[in-house]
Amino acid sequence: MSTTNIERKVVILGSGPAGLTAAIYASRAELSPLVIDGPQPGGQLTITTDVENYPGFADGIMGPALMEQFREQAVRFGTEIINVWIDKVDLSQRPFTLYGKDSEDADEITTIVKADTLIISTGASAKWLGIPGEAPVPEGLGGNGVSACATCDGFFFRGKPIVVVGGGDTAMEEALFLTRFASKVSLVHRRHEFRASKIMQERVLAHEKIDVLWNTELKDIQGSKEAGVESVTLFNNETNETSNFPTQGVFIAIGHKPNTELFKGVLDMDDVGYLITEGKTMKTNIEGVFACGDAQDSYYRQAVTAAGTGCMAAIDAERFLAEHHVPNAAKNTPTNW
Ligand code: NDP
Repeated sequence: MSTTNIERKVVILGSGPAGLTAAIYASRAELSPLVIDGPQPGGQLTITTDVENYPGFADGIMGPALMEQFREQAVRFGTEIINVWIDKVDLSQRPFTLYGKDSEDADEITTIVKADTLIISTGASAKWLGIPGEAPVPEGLGGNGVSACATCDGFFFRGKPIVVVGGGDTAMEEALFLTRFASKVSLVHRRHEFRASKIMQERVLAHEKIDVLWNTELKDIQGSKEAGVESVTLFNNETNETSNFPTQGVFIAIGHKPNTELFKGVLDMDDVGYLITEGKTMKTNIEGVFACGDAQDSYYRQAVTAAGTGCMAAIDAERFLAEHHVPNAAKNTPTNW
């Protein structure tokens, strides 16, 4: 099989709000950036429904539609987007080298990308509880009644009782969305108060189809390949009681972890895996490599803040190229973008 070789001044890894905003800025600076789509093109917003807090959309907008607009805007100014699975990166010298395969499971490297600057916007993925029942079929019931994405899978639970685990905004959003399909939603949370924003909590607590099981931990999931989920084991950490709770679906909504495995041991990251950037900038510990969005931000984690840091990473990359006299780095200076 032949290998495709690509060279770019700016390569952006990931195509959520951070990556595509970086692409809009870098392409408007005539840097012809290359965006490499991750396994979830468009990022986490493509698996959400209504986005009510992205400025500029007074009536809200659906997550996938918002990301389509980001994408169109980036392409309009000259961004190229490719879909390959990056298997390995070499950041030991510039230009950096990224090795891509056609898919995660493929054996062969089919694309080699050389980058003068690299912007990492690989986002974050859903976390799991780590119990056996969550594992994908056939080991567990993952994908067969157990899910981490209500938008993707909610439809399959029409008229069925569902359990949602978590106490943050994601859990509130998932629980509310699932009321459209489920006969009843039981929200299982390990503490006696939610972490979620007040407005989301209020909507959940007021919803007639949602029951909250406080101080409760989901310990196990029962069911079969044929029947899917049949029940869960719950543990009340206040009364120390364990019970069997009948349900037909389980949605895990306990937060996310950054997708930064590829850079372990190479780029500075915190204990959880969030990439560390320098001061007010998006610079990582390797010159010419920048990080933004949910791969870098452990604190705000909003679409609009991800977009903001994507813009900052593109400006940092442009300045870096100009300082390092990369030919035709940019026609514009950051101030007149
Ligand atoms: P959070 O980290 O905010 O919340 C995670 C929740 O899951 C917490 O309630 C936590 O419990 C619980 N949890 C974590 N680990 C476990 C575990 N092992 N077992 C049981 N429960 C567990 O993550 P979210 O994804 O909810 O939100 C992340 C960010 O994204 C936030 O800033 C949020 O505001 C934002 N967001 C905003 C939305 C919006 O504005 N519409 C929608 C979705 C997310 P505990 O509270 O006890 O720690």
